[in-house]
Amino acid sequence: MGQAAKATRENRTITVDFHDDSTYFQLINDGKAFVEFVFAFLLSLGFQLTHKASCSGGGCLTRHSHYVRVRLGGLTIWRMQCASCKAVFTVLPHFVLRYRKMRPEVARDALLATHGGLSLELCAAICHISPMAPYRLVCALGNTVWSRCWSKCHLPLPVYFLADEKHSRCLTDRVYLPTIVSGRVMWHLGYSTSKSAVVFTESYGQFQRVASQEDPSYEVQGVLIDGFDSTTSSMRTLFPGARLGHGLRHALNKLPDKLIGLSAPLRQGLRAKFHTLLHRCRTRTRVRVVALGQRLRRFADHITATVGEDQGERVRSWFQDKKSGWYAVLEDPQMPAMSTVLDQAHNAIDRKLFAMKGFHHPGGSQTAFLTGLAHLYNLIPYQRRALNAGQCGVEVEGGRLPTTDWMLNLQILTAGGCQCAPEPPSH
Ligand SMILES: [Zn+2]
Repeated sequence: MGQAAKATRENRTITVDFHDDSTYFQLINDGKAFVEFVFAFLLSLGFQLTHKASCSGGGCLTRHSHYVRVRLGGLTIWRMQCASCKAVFTVLPHFVLRYRKMRPEVARDALLATHGGLSLELCAAICHISPMAPYRLVCALGNTVWSRCWSKCHLPLPVYFLADEKHSRCLTDRVYLPTIVSGRVMWHLGYSTSKSAVVFTESYGQFQRVASQEDPSYEVQGVLIDGFDSTTSSMRTLFPGARLGHGLRHALNKLPDKLIGLSAPLRQGLRAKFHTLLHRCRTRTRVRVVALGQRLRRFADHITATVGEDQGERVRSWFQDKKSGWYAVLEDPQMPAMSTVLDQAHNAIDRKLFAMKGFHHPGGSQTAFLTGLAHLYNLIPYQRRALNAGQCGVEVEGGRLPTTDWMLNLQILTAGGCQCAPEPPSH
């Protein structure tokens, strides 16, 4: 597997919005004014620089800090060093992409086109770039500490979420993408070539680790899964206190498979009846679990009476296996009951993987690539006819973004040099 993310040196690049190019070229010659501008910008976002853990410099540089001017691809940029911990910060103006020769305007169009599902080849043709360029760009965006993005957006950690794996292919290999979604935000998008419980635990564990680093008291109340053994077991290991529910929509879609040998209209009729049953239980406000238990028994009896003993028996034993997961959904009104948002997220990622099929290669950095796609999923605003038009997933879920421009947000949030400043103490 070539996809393991390399342990890289802490990236301390910061992207600063200088409004227009001429302001930047004016400031670049005046050290004091430059440093002050950078701090004012960080302050306005509510961010501070990511110093080394050992730093006692108070989390900020002063204009006494060391700085050097370096040339990067014909452009002069600044590196500033903390006098206390010696951490070096690279300041990139908004019109330069980290590691890229591409201009942000070109990257903006290319990312939007790929996000919309346009293939890399077509994207390259309309944006006049090499087909490999958007792929590398997505990987570069994904080479970041994901958790820092959440906290920089003040996004609350999900107390309830959906977890499931997308089955995909990397050329001829079968691969799995363990995913955690809560509402419109993708919290984890992993990659594995095995579907064992150990491998899934490792993948979902990456989310669990960073979430508990961010908030040591983080506890998950409920997780909706489809009941696959490896997923169930990995969730039990990682979130022992969480209620594990099985999706009701998934149950509805599975029922016809249990009615072997029946005609399509008969199966459809029973599915509709089952749909009504689940819906009635969900919309009740009290004793929902008891109501579901009773109705499942009556429904199995109804199947026995109408289409035969063996059909009834098969459905009854399926209910027996699955009902605890359905009860879990009904026991807690805040539990998500449907996996719709997760299915939508998977379909969106799948379209991109398909559009990039020649590039999503075994030798690539799948982790970085998928993380990059997840950033796009969370940060590109919905189109104007959509529900939540103009807002991105992070905003829909209550996060705050540094600026009103998604491309600039992407640059600022995926550059690793700053972090959220601690909230001022309240009293
Ligand atoms: Zn420092």
